[in-house]
Amino acid sequence: MPNIAIQEVAVIGAGLAGLSVLQHLDPATHRVTLFDKSRGTGGRLSSKKVGNSSWDMGAQYLRAHSPEFAGQLSTWHELGWIAPWPVTPYVADANGLRPSPDNTRRYVGTPRMTALSRKLSEQAGEFHATTRITKASQQDGHWFLRSDDDREFGPFATLVIALPPQQAAELLPINHPLYQMAAGHGMLPSWTLLFSCEEIIAPEIHAVYVHNGPLRWMARNSSKPGRAPEQSWVLQASAVWSQQHLDAPRPEIQSQLLEAFRSLTGADKLTLTDTWLHRWLYALPDGSSAPAQPLHDPAMKLYLCGDWCQGSSAEGAWLSGRSTAALINQQDNE
Ligand SMILES: Cc1cc2nc3c(=O)[nH]c(=O)nc-3n(C[C@H](O)[C@H](O)[C@H](O)COP(=O)(O)OP(=O)(O)OC[C@H]3O[C@@H](n4cnc5c(N)ncnc54)[C@H](O)[C@@H]3O)c2cc1C
Repeated sequence: MPNIAIQEVAVIGAGLAGLSVLQHLDPATHRVTLFDKSRGTGGRLSSKKVGNSSWDMGAQYLRAHSPEFAGQLSTWHELGWIAPWPVTPYVADANGLRPSPDNTRRYVGTPRMTALSRKLSEQAGEFHATTRITKASQQDGHWFLRSDDDREFGPFATLVIALPPQQAAELLPINHPLYQMAAGHGMLPSWTLLFSCEEIIAPEIHAVYVHNGPLRWMARNSSKPGRAPEQSWVLQASAVWSQQHLDAPRPEIQSQLLEAFRSLTGADKLTLTDTWLHRWLYALPDGSSAPAQPLHDPAMKLYLCGDWCQGSSAEGAWLSGRSTAALINQQDNE
């Protein structure tokens, strides 16, 4: 047997992009150490638990535009990591609220979104949760990382930064060409209100694309497969409204989002049991075009990926991580 050298790879960010890198790297030649500042995996594919309630706080469902991601969704479905959410969406606009059926196949992690990322992260050699990386530096061709609590990690042969662009830029030298590409990309915010209530509101409505007022989306989380039957709702505010109210007092945000919900559903009585308000500063890419060149510096063995590199969705994040892993596999197997 030839003696195959294992390459140590550091992946900063355990969202779907970072996990896709992990999934697609050749395990015979790579060992991955994964870092995330949060307590768990998933990033914007996360779920939140408060009291007896649980909600999908970021991405609401997965869908495929590409054959590659469609195939991947089928495989995860067969493995039982995700399940179809057979929902008839509604739309709400100036003409009111009405059903808007479509043929989109929507999938969700079961019993919550984070279930998928947990499964994917099992392949990591090591996972350092609650570890915010604040510095990445290269010495003698090896990468070393430092966390905000002054721990040092390394050496790594390859560094993958799988973060939203502003957070990626913070780890790059300001004169590096990748810094400009990351720092020049905008992300849009989204205020998100999660609540559970005693009443069964608008029982026929499970998901609504909203095109007026503060909201852009609302969903009955409990209508998704594998969820507890408590009446739980997710309200996500539009980027424009969120930007305008970025630093508004939280009680004001909550009351305006609830008012929009009441007005759309006609709910007069609403007895809240659990609530959580979250401000996503970097919710979705702002729509500026994806970078034209591959986001890597082969000489430094430095790679950037994320939804902002290849499409503003979970699918884009997964594809971007997959392309990054292909570049690393190719470089290391040359
Ligand atoms: C409100 C909302 C609704 C959405 N709805 C949908 C939807 O319905 N369908 C869909 O397909 N997509 C949706 N999206 C988009 C989708 O969630 C993202 O495109 C995708 O999850 C991005 O994955 P990522 O790996 O690129 O980034 P992220 O998921 O953001 O992962 C980055 C990770 O890096 C970590 N991190 C950041 N800085 C550091 C650091 N310095 N050190 C260590 N770790 C760090 C973060 O904790 C995070 O886990 C939605 C997003 C939001 C916010």
